Amino acid sequence: MDLFGHMATYDYGEVHVARDQASGLRAIVAIHDTRLGPALGGCRFLHYDKDEAALIDALRLARGMTYKAALAGIAHGGGKSVLLRPRGHFDRVALFRAFGRFIEDLGGHYITAEDSGTSLEDMEVIRSVTKHVTGVSEANGGSGDPSPFTALGVRRGIEACVKSKLGRDDLKGLHVAVQGIGHVGYYLCKELHEHGVKLTVADVDPLKAERAQREFKASIVAIEHIFDVECDVIAPCALGSALNDETIPRLRCKIVAGAANNQLAEPRHGESLFQRGILYAPDYAINAGGLINVAAEVKGYNAEQSRIDTHKIYDTILEICERSERLALPTYRVADTMVEERLAKHARLS
Ligand code: NAD
Repeated sequence: MDLFGHMATYDYGEVHVARDQASGLRAIVAIHDTRLGPALGGCRFLHYDKDEAALIDALRLARGMTYKAALAGIAHGGGKSVLLRPRGHFDRVALFRAFGRFIEDLGGHYITAEDSGTSLEDMEVIRSVTKHVTGVSEANGGSGDPSPFTALGVRRGIEACVKSKLGRDDLKGLHVAVQGIGHVGYYLCKELHEHGVKLTVADVDPLKAERAQREFKASIVAIEHIFDVECDVIAPCALGSALNDETIPRLRCKIVAGAANNQLAEPRHGESLFQRGILYAPDYAINAGGLINVAAEVKGYNAEQSRIDTHKIYDTILEICERSERLALPTYRVADTMVEERLAKHARLS
């Protein structure tokens, strides 16, 4: 494996690796950048066919966290950890305790949190050996489920896009199509319904779509038709790569603004949306509400302050839209430039 080659590709930084024979722990902690503060990012617990795939996942995701935190104005750098899930039987508590000791040894340089394949219970186990973990349960003084904060930020981001593209100060009577009515999608529909929005939804799980129909008067379409809906805004809140060669030509909306991570299948799809005159809210800018909430736990949790900070996503998205228009550049490139400007003001520590 070309370890340093991969690190150079993603502009690193530091990578820490740990193996614990007794528990079966094999973990990688990627610390991309600590210029704005200690690295913060979730911990994945997945099967990987090759160690190299785990390393690349950690490197790619941690860099994404640097960008998300910097743009959201959070005093944290980007980090991510990947735990390679053992194939056979293993003791989950022992494994996460060993991981907690590894995090503790990093001395607060990296703070972990829940991510794909990990749970609130795993965070509690980590918490038993280190304080450098966030996103624990509300019962233990933590911030709990981040999804309502993510949804609040997405609603504010949609409002900024509507202001920029349609010149309107409210959402009343607008039509939003939401792909994926999971944790964030549900709360987003609730927010939008309360602001007078007409909703169309699609989810692979019919019960989730039906709940939105029942509670928010949403219309339901089949999942393969959500990108054909004629509407003001499409909000991708399911999987990554929703915006690709197949879906973009079908869009009949003016704005794409949703919670999903990595919505652009490739950067060129950001150019393609721009050329079609469709305003795209960069995913890591609009979906930072959950991160804002989880980061607040590190300093002593205050839900009201998290809400206030999440509302600022409106200003960030509006600034991106204004710069995009003024410079005739796609929004995703404007967002990256804004991050690079913020980081450039700080000396590099790692
Ligand atoms: P979730 O798993 O709870 O919800 C995803 C929903 O999408 C599920 O209901 C699933 O059935 C549905 N779905 C899957 N494939 C679909 C398809 N092809 N068409 C329609 N529906 C489909 O996840 P979540 O926590 O709500 O997160 C949604 C997205 O937002 C993810 O990309 C996640 O990475 C991102 N995100 C979430 C948060 C958060 O606070 N949870 C924060 C930032 C970003």
